[in-house]
Amino acid sequence: MAEIRLKSLAHSYKSKPTSPDDYAIREMNHVWHQGGAYALLGPSGCGKSTLLNIISGLLAPSNGDVLFDGKKVNDIPPEERNIAQVFQFPVVYDSMTVFDNLAFPLRNMKISEDKVHSRVIEIAAVLELSDLLKNKAKNLTADEKQKVSMGRGLVRSDVSAILFDEPLTVIDPHLKWKLRRKLKQIHEQFNITMVYVTHDQLEASTFADKIAVMYGGQIVQFGTPRELFEKPNHAFVGYFIGSPGMNLIEVKKTKSGLKFNNTLVSLNPEMQVALDRVSTSNIKIGIRPEFVHVWDDKAEGAFECDVLHTEDLGTYKIITMKLDGEVLKVRIHEDRAVPTKKAYISFPEQWLKVYVDEYLVDIEEPEDEEKETV
Ligand code: ADP
Ligand code: MG
Repeated sequence: MAEIRLKSLAHSYKSKPTSPDDYAIREMNHVWHQGGAYALLGPSGCGKSTLLNIISGLLAPSNGDVLFDGKKVNDIPPEERNIAQVFQFPVVYDSMTVFDNLAFPLRNMKISEDKVHSRVIEIAAVLELSDLLKNKAKNLTADEKQKVSMGRGLVRSDVSAILFDEPLTVIDPHLKWKLRRKLKQIHEQFNITMVYVTHDQLEASTFADKIAVMYGGQIVQFGTPRELFEKPNHAFVGYFIGSPGMNLIEVKKTKSGLKFNNTLVSLNPEMQVALDRVSTSNIKIGIRPEFVHVWDDKAEGAFECDVLHTEDLGTYKIITMKLDGEVLKVRIHEDRAVPTKKAYISFPEQWLKVYVDEYLVDIEEPEDEEKETV
């Protein structure tokens, strides 16, 4: 079992990187605590696999260190790092039976055949592979092969951590949900540090207690699913998490608030003061569709919008509106009447976020919580 610490870690696939864009991983410090269930979430190409391969040792980072329980492991080869990695596509020995595939990592460690047997039976039961143990791997379906592949990662009880790199890609949709639950159950049972890579927010939040959102080679936020939803630290997190994502509008700073076209959004005095110090022109306001307030009638301080269309999604509706040339998504409860043609909306102060150079302007008092120190 291990805590995994990344210290000033960066990686470029180029031999002579010159600009930040040349880095697949931009300098980062991060800690995965022992025993945590984590997801690493981000779009394709943001550096998730690169980061995982650096942790497992398949790839040597260009800069910085990887530490397990405080001990630098940069020079330790993957097979000695005590880490299991499950890849996107199954890695199984076709000519072996399912039993022998699952037993392979244990036999490699010269574990007694009795123990091998009991462990293989246990893991096969968890993954619902018990009836297939005698079958040759080559006759399995893609789903089954991937379950065997996952089993090979899970079978060793001595591993420090298990890294999953989009392991459910080839799995049938109806099985995905089941396997995700299983992984969570295995995590609870064995208390192993698990890092689960995915580009799917639902997958990340059902598996993980804490999610690291990655974008452009950086971890832009590390938090619980709720924190990512309620307080996105980066405009990308706002946009990427949620369905639909956060409404983001480019604005200009004025003495009395933030402006787009002819619309002025006023701010509280603290925010106005915080923005006085800002010199960049990259400023956005962000508000989640769930938090836009829709008024039944014309109301003071509310903005008038055109209603473009409405999607009925069962327990809720998504209304697409146009406010002074900007398209916004607004989520309302199924029971609420949908305004026709015109609607009046406002942005509750608590939920209106301001992003400067893509990062949240945080004016809240820091909570008395334990801060990560790296
Ligand atoms: P993800 O797993 O999030 O999709 P990757 O870690 O695979 O992202 O890739 C991150 C970036 O590094 C991408 O721009 C990708 O093109 C680049 N990259 C990945 N592997 C290699 C490689 N072996 N050589 C050169 N560039 C690579
Ligand atoms: Mg990848």
